[in-house]
Formats: sequence, C-alpha cells, structure tokens
Amino acid sequence: VIPRTARSSKKISSSHSSLERDLRKLLLHAAGVITDPVRLAELGRDKWFASALPEIAVAPNTAQEAAAVLGYAHKRGIPVTTRGAGHGYVGGCVPVRGGILMSMHRMNRIKEISTCDFVAVVQPAVITGVLQEKVREKGLFYPPDPASLKDCSLGGNIATNAGGPRCLKYGVTRPYVLGLEIALADGRLVRVGGRTHKNKTGFDLTSLFVGSEGLLGVITEAILRLLPYPPARATLSAGFSSMKEASAAVQAIFHAGFLPCAMEVADSFTLQAARNAHVGQQGTFIPPGNAHLLVEIDGQKASVLSEGKALKSLFAQNKALEVELATSPERCARMWALRRAFSASLKATGLIKLNEDIAVPRGRLVDLITFAERLQKKTGFQIACFGHAGDGNIHVNIMVSAEQQAEQPQKIEAALDALFTRVITWGGAITGEHGIGLAKKRWWPQATSPTLRDLHTSIKCALDPEGILNPGKFVDP
Ligand SMILES: Cc1cc2nc3c(=O)[nH]c(=O)nc-3n(C[C@H](O)[C@H](O)[C@H](O)COP(=O)(O)OP(=O)(O)OC[C@H]3O[C@@H](n4cnc5c(N)ncnc54)[C@H](O)[C@@H]3O)c2cc1C
Repeated sequence: VIPRTARSSKKISSSHSSLERDLRKLLLHAAGVITDPVRLAELGRDKWFASALPEIAVAPNTAQEAAAVLGYAHKRGIPVTTRGAGHGYVGGCVPVRGGILMSMHRMNRIKEISTCDFVAVVQPAVITGVLQEKVREKGLFYPPDPASLKDCSLGGNIATNAGGPRCLKYGVTRPYVLGLEIALADGRLVRVGGRTHKNKTGFDLTSLFVGSEGLLGVITEAILRLLPYPPARATLSAGFSSMKEASAAVQAIFHAGFLPCAMEVADSFTLQAARNAHVGQQGTFIPPGNAHLLVEIDGQKASVLSEGKALKSLFAQNKALEVELATSPERCARMWALRRAFSASLKATGLIKLNEDIAVPRGRLVDLITFAERLQKKTGFQIACFGHAGDGNIHVNIMVSAEQQAEQPQKIEAALDALFTRVITWGGAITGEHGIGLAKKRWWPQATSPTLRDLHTSIKCALDPEGILNPGKFVDP
C-alpha cells in the first residue's frame, strides 16, 4: 500500500477559512486554534536550524480532541505535525509540508503517581524535570535524564526515545514506557501496554511507538515505570593528560566490575572552552589536563561510600592527574555544573556548534577520538567531543564560524559525510539520542538496508495510509 502524499499547504490555502472554521468546531476551546502568524512561526521550529510555517495550529485539551483533528485531516489528506516542547535537536517537529501543527502544550497534567504500583500516568506535555521532582517527593525515581529535561516534554522524550547520562545504568526512555494511549492517524484512539511491569499480550506495540518521531501516531497519555529513589549518590571528577587515557579508564572501570549510573567524558577543546568561559569561578571544580571524566554512582549509603573510594584508587592507578570525590549533594551538583556548562561554553567560543550525537560500539571510543583529531587536521574545522563515554554516545561537535557556514557548506557536508560513513563502518549509529528528524535524513539511506527501509514503509502505510503524520521526514512514502 502506498499512502497518498499528504497534500501541500498551497492547496490548503485556498480553503483556509473553512479549515479554521472546521477545526474550531472540533475543539471545545476557541483558544485551541492558533492562526497568529508570529505564534505559528514560533511553533514551526525547534532547536535545530530548520523552520517552516504551518497553515494553522491546534492545541488539543483532550485525547478525543486530538483524535478528532486527526480523523478530519485523514479524510482530507492534510499534513499533521505533532509538537511537544519544541526542544528537539533535529527539526523533528518542523512542519515541512505545512498543514496542521498539533501542539500538545495544553495536555500537561500528571494524572497519577502510584507509590504502590510504581507508575506515573501522564499527559504528553508534562515537562520531564517536573515529573522527576514530583515523583522524588514520594521517594520514587524516573531515571531518563536528557540534558534538556527542564524544557522538554515526556511526549517528545517518548517520540524520540530520549537518553541522557544516567542511561548507562538505567537505560533510555523505552524501558520506562509501560503503556501508551495513541491517537491514530485515522482518528481512532488505542491503548497499548498497561500499568503492569511485565506484559506479553500480543506484539510489543508500545515499543514500536517509542522513538517513532511523530510518524506513526500522536501520544496522548503515557503510563511510566518508576523505581525506588536511590538514597545516596557520589560523583568523581578526574583530569587526564589525553582522551586515550580517559578512555582506558572507562574500560578499566567496567572490567573491575563497576556499573556507574553515568560516565561522561570531555576532550581538551571542550575543557578549555569551559576554562575560558570562567566556569571554575562559579565554584565548579575543573581538573587539570586535556581530558575530563565524570563518574556518578548511586545506591545505599554504605555501598556508595565504599565504591566511591575504590573508584578513586582505580582512577589513580589509571593515570588520572587529579581526582575529586564528592558525596554531599551540594558538591556532586558542583561537579555536574562543569558537565552541564560544556554546551554553553562551546557556544561562548563564538563558533557555531554542529552537534552530531553519534554512537559507536563501546570499544571504539579511542578510534573515534583519533578519527575526530584526523578530521580536524584535514578540514581545518575545530572538533569538540564530549558526552556519554560509557554508552559510546559521543557528541561530536563540528565547530564552524558564521563565514565558514555561509561560504563552505559543501566542505561541512563532506566532513559530516566522512564522520557518518566512518561511524556506520564501525557498526555504530548516526544518532544515539536525538533522532533522525530532518538533520539526519540525508544519511538515513546509508545507515539502513533497502529491506529495512521497506519494512519501515510498510509499518508507516499500515498505521498512516494517507501519509498525513509528520510528512517530509525519514519515512515518507
Ligand atoms: C540543550 C539541549 C540538550 C539536549 N539534550 C538531550 C539529551 O541529553 N538527550 C536526548 O535524548 N536529547 C536531548 N536533546 C534533544 C531533545 O531535548 C529531545 O529530543 C526531547 O525528547 C525533545 O522533546 P520535546 O518535547 O522538545 O519534543 P519536540 O522537539 O517538540 O518533538 C520531537 C519529536 O517528537 C515528536 N513528538 C513530540 N510530542 C509528540 C507526541 N505527543 N506524540 C507523537 N509525537 C510527538 C515530534 O513530532 C518530533 O518528531 C537536547 C536538546 C537541547 C536543545
């Protein structure tokens, strides 16, 4: 089955007033239909470079309203692009074919936090950090921790299968999604999974929707798995003379039988950018050297203290220049402040940061760093690497000036081609966290086999036969 391509915005323009009138009938609150051009422009972009103007935007209050809009659009072949908090990094929620932008921002209620079932029932626009704080107050833990957690939504996290530093021990978003309510492209509502921590009833459709980037359905509710909150935490921060030594320390930690909740690495350019941005003056410890490793462990107090000490000596045996161990929440937070400042420090260099969130098999970390150094020499572009060392998910940031971005687009594309080709050759992934969206669409065919792409097309056609959901993205039959 080949879906009809969702019709273009141009065609919709002629019947714009009837579209607005019809949508107002479908939504109970008049404010749920947005036509203000300034607001539409805001809604038509995320944190990546692309933007596009939707014809109109809707902000449903309920799953039924979202489903009604989809049913309407399905019958008329109108594109519908779903937007969470617009903090994506790949242009995923950009409505490239215009049409209707479905902004979920009104559906932001935490419906339930159950301390006996260890689940939270949430609407999609709940901000990730807000849920984490609310469950923490009840002694519970929602581990997925994207760096954007103060701004991004759980619906967006589910649609991109977001990760973060703590995923090393706890995994990415997918294992925390027990059940979903989905508004399907044709306007039906369906529930998949449920509130049990195990469920083998039929195909695992819950997982299918996780990471589907708004192409298969609209998430209108989620049942999330919670854990007991670990009572103690310790952080170690260490400097090394090179990334090679920091990477060797990562391997040594695993081989000694430790599974920290996070292991974050940063290279010399990133560290120097933080020094230049005077991050240290804000009370943050910046270790000496050309590479930085931040390790966090959690659990019961006695085991955290003894593991912390053991890791400190392991660092010393593995050529760390200096190691600091923090066990109080305040000192741990100060160490994390350095890690959290890397993005801003790199931006403060005045260069534009082209952030590629590739993932390589764990054992390829040193190869990746060596490759990035060679690429830097060859292209003349500064390359800053930092990220989730334990997962092999490193943010390779190609740093370019505004002139380079304007005058040398082909050279930049060639550098990106070289990076992604190398990563694919190693059996790595072109995106470990952010998703394909528009940013990685160019490399989607290279990263997948024809059969795998056919399979994606079949799934898309089965769930969205008219091709209305987020058209123009990586599966666009
Ligand atoms: C500073 C910064 C740091 C970041 N750090 C991380 C990180 O550490 N880890 C990480 O994984 N990501 C990170 N990101 C990327 C981003 O925050 C995540 O991709 C996040 O999950 C996006 O959520 P959102 O609500 O902003 O989604 P949006 O940007 O609004 O949408 C993202 C995608 O999800 C779809 N979508 C959104 N809501 C729904 C829904 N209800 N139903 C169906 N589809 C939907 C959209 O169509 C789009 O394809 C970072 C981004 C920034 C700007």
